[in-house]
Amino acid sequence: MTTHRRFRSVIRIGPVQVGTFYDGRGREKNTAACTAPRCGFSVDYDSRAAAELAARTHRCPVR
Ligand SMILES: [Zn+2]
Repeated sequence: MTTHRRFRSVIRIGPVQVGTFYDGRGREKNTAACTAPRCGFSVDYDSRAAAELAARTHRCPVR
């Protein structure tokens, strides 16, 4: 999981959380991470829009 990261502007789309954070070099990153146990879906994007789209289109296998 990615709970060690400090997320800003966290929203939730279905079971997926989208959060923005800054990597070690101060660059913005956006993560879409599913909160369902045993799913493990988690991806990073440079763009917030891309992360939100990934969250919206995630088909959770463990619902
Ligand atoms: Zn999922």
